[in-house]
Amino acid sequence: MNVAPTLGTDVSSLPPEGALASLGRPGAGSVAPTPDTDASWSSNCPLCAADGGTLVWRGARLRVIHADEQGFPAFYRVVWNAHVAEFTDLAEHERLRCLQAVALVEQTLREHVRPTKVNLASLGNMVPHLHWHVVARHTWDSHWPAPIWAAPQRPRALQQEAELAACLPALHAALHARLAQWAAEAPAHVHG
Ligand SMILES: [Zn+2]
Repeated sequence: MNVAPTLGTDVSSLPPEGALASLGRPGAGSVAPTPDTDASWSSNCPLCAADGGTLVWRGARLRVIHADEQGFPAFYRVVWNAHVAEFTDLAEHERLRCLQAVALVEQTLREHVRPTKVNLASLGNMVPHLHWHVVARHTWDSHWPAPIWAAPQRPRALQQEAELAACLPALHAALHARLAQWAAEAPAHVHG
């Protein structure tokens, strides 16, 4: 059974990039958006056109979305709101804010769903708009211990997935509350 995450055709199911990175190779019939780090908005960028998933929290500079990828119920992305491609396109204080948000999501995942490991990744090969993946991994998941973009190692554990999914309402409420507090406590020039 092929349980690898699949390429979505709409922005609500933004694909994990790794398995599809070859699509972005120059000369390979590329359909990937052209990186445009100078523009504040890119017309062919799905993360400029829409949230990119179920919005958990939005601040002035970044947002956190639930990615809703099959097989990985606790899969989040921290998305920088402005269209920048690389982490080093951000000012230093912005990088700090971005990683603080990533850490906050990771910590909340650890407390609510007790993952075996949290995976952090920033690829952007398919969608070169800065975003960090924050994924709770468990030994029972279909790809463990391989990356989520690799080939599946076993069939999906639907019972465990359902139990994990049942934790999401409380997890999302906690994420929203913590992110809102984090933004409110920030110095005025660096609000989330
Ligand atoms: Zn964009």
